Amino acid sequence: MAGSRGESGRARPRNAPSLAVIGAGVAGCALAAGLRRGGWEGSIVLFEAGRGPGGRAATRRSRQDAGWRLDHGAPLLNLLEVPAPELVAPLLDGGWIVPWQEPAAVLLGEGTLGPAQEDPLLRGSLYRGRQGMDDLCRGLLALAQAQGPPDSLRCRYGTLVRHLEVRPEGGWRLAEATGAALGEADWLVLSSTLLAHPRAMDRFGWAELPLERATEGLGDGALATALAAIARMETAARTNLMLTIDPTTAARWLALPFRLLGFDSQAQRRWGLRRLSIQPLTDGRCAVVAHGVSVDAAVDCTALEGAVAGAVEPWLGERPSGGEALAGVAQRQLMRWGAAFPVAPGLPTAALVCPASRVAFCGDFIEGPGFGRIEGALRSAQALAGRLLALVLLLCLALGGPSMAAAEVVPYRCEGDLLLATSDNGAVDAPGIPNTSGGTVPGATVLLAWRDLRLQLPRTNNVGPPSYTDGLWWWSLEDPQQPRFLHRRGAIESFSCQAVPAAAPPDDGR
Ligand SMILES: Cc1cc2nc3c(=O)[nH]c(=O)nc-3n(C[C@H](O)[C@H](O)[C@H](O)COP(=O)(O)OP(=O)(O)OC[C@H]3O[C@@H](n4cnc5c(N)ncnc54)[C@H](O)[C@@H]3O)c2cc1C
Repeated sequence: MAGSRGESGRARPRNAPSLAVIGAGVAGCALAAGLRRGGWEGSIVLFEAGRGPGGRAATRRSRQDAGWRLDHGAPLLNLLEVPAPELVAPLLDGGWIVPWQEPAAVLLGEGTLGPAQEDPLLRGSLYRGRQGMDDLCRGLLALAQAQGPPDSLRCRYGTLVRHLEVRPEGGWRLAEATGAALGEADWLVLSSTLLAHPRAMDRFGWAELPLERATEGLGDGALATALAAIARMETAARTNLMLTIDPTTAARWLALPFRLLGFDSQAQRRWGLRRLSIQPLTDGRCAVVAHGVSVDAAVDCTALEGAVAGAVEPWLGERPSGGEALAGVAQRQLMRWGAAFPVAPGLPTAALVCPASRVAFCGDFIEGPGFGRIEGALRSAQALAGRLLALVLLLCLALGGPSMAAAEVVPYRCEGDLLLATSDNGAVDAPGIPNTSGGTVPGATVLLAWRDLRLQLPRTNNVGPPSYTDGLWWWSLEDPQQPRFLHRRGAIESFSCQAVPAAAPPDDGR
C-alpha cells in the first residue's frame, strides 16, 4: 500500500499518502469516492470482514439461488438535511440508487394505518438501492474507481483486521488474527468502532483493543480523547426475522397497501415489532423482513412469525390452519445485529482526524446530522474526505512539493479549522484589462477548502484589495493576515480567520 510505486509498477505522485480503511460499509465506500473525486491520488485499500460491500446496508445473496436477495439491514435511506450529501446526485445519475416510490405507512397501536412520516426512518427524501441496498455501496465504489490512478483502489473482502501496529517511520501495519500481514499504509481510517470498542473483547474474546494497544505510549492526546469517547459509546441491538414467501402467497403480500410498515410505540408494545419490509424478488417470490423489538436470546423465528401474522392479519387475511403462523413461507432465518444502531452521543466531529498518529474516523457513529443512519455515514465520510484532502494540500505546501509550488495555496486558521485558499487567475488574457487589483484580474477565482466545504468564488469588480463572492459567501483580503470570511444566510455570519505561517504545518498538525 505504501511507497512510491503502485502494484502495477506505475510511479505515484510524490506526497500522495496511502490509506487503509477498515470497513466497506456506506462510510468507507463514500470516503473512497469523496477522496478520489477530490483528487486524492494515493492508494486506498478497504478491508471488509463481510463477503461484499454494504455493512449494515448490505444485501444477502445466495450462490445456489440466483433469484434470491434480501436487504437484511437498512431497507432504504432517508435524507433529512439539505443540501443532500454531495455523492447522492452522482449515485442517482448513475442509476445506483432510485427514489423510494413504494407505499409506506405506520401501524398504530389500535391496529389502523397512519402516515409514514410518524416513523423517523420514513421522513424526508427516501431512496433505495436499485437492485438491493448494496447497490448504494457498489455505486460509491464505482464512483471511486472512475477517478484516480488505475489499480490504486482495492477492496479486500472476507478479511477481518485484528492487529494494528505503528511503523517506526509513522503510518500503520495491519495483520489478521493469525498474525499474517495484510499490508501497510500511511493513514488508518476506522469506519467502524470495532477495533476500539470494548464490545469486541466480549464478541471475539480479544484480550485487548487493537487500536488502544497499538497507540499506547504515543502521547497523542487527540486520539486518547477519541478512544475514550468511543469506549463510552453504547449501541442498540436488533433481531430480524427473514422470510422467503412462495410466489402464490407472495402475490397477496405484494398487494398490501404498504411495502414498508413502521410501528408506532404503542404498536411496538402490542406486537413486539418495529418494522416490516416487503421486498419483491424477480421470480414472483418475495422476502419479508421483520425487525423485532426484543433482543432477548429466547426470541426465535416462531415467536416473531406469530407477531407478524397478528400485525398484518387485517390486510393479509386468515392464518393457515396448521401449526405455522404464516402461509407460504419457504424459508425462515433469524439475524441478530449486535450493534445495529449507535446510541447518542456519538464521536465529536472535532475528533474526526488525529494527525499525530495518522488515524481518522468516519461512520454513522460520528455526531451530527444523520447520526445513526446512512445519511450520517455519508455526511461523515464527506467531512473526512474534505479534511484529509486539505491536510494533504497543506503537507505538500509545507514540503514545497513541485506540483504545489505553482499553485498559490495559502493556509489560514478559520474558527479553529484549517482553510486553504487557492487563488487562480484562470485563462483570462489579463493585459489591457483596466481593473486589475492585487494581482488578480476579472475572471479570477479563489478556491476555498474549509471543513467539508469546497467553494469557488469569482472575483468581484470592486477596486482595492482582491475580494471574491458567489452571492452567498464572501472572501476578501483587506488585511492578508486576517481575511474577511462571511456567509449570508438571512443574517450575515462572520468567521474569524488568521493566516498560518506556510513554512510548517500548524503545531497540532491539523
Ligand atoms: C436492521 C437495521 C435497519 C436499519 N434501517 C435503517 C434505515 O431504515 N435507514 C437508515 O438510514 N439507516 C438504517 N440503518 C442504519 C444503517 O444501516 C447504518 O447507519 C449505516 O449502514 C452505517 O454505515 P457505516 O459505514 O457507518 O457502518 P457499517 O455499515 O457498520 O460499516 C462498517 C463495516 O466495517 C466492517 N468492519 C468492522 N471492523 C472490521 C475489521 N476489524 N476488519 C474488517 N472489517 C471490519 C464491518 O463488517 C462493516 O461492514 C439500519 C441498520 C440496521 C442494522
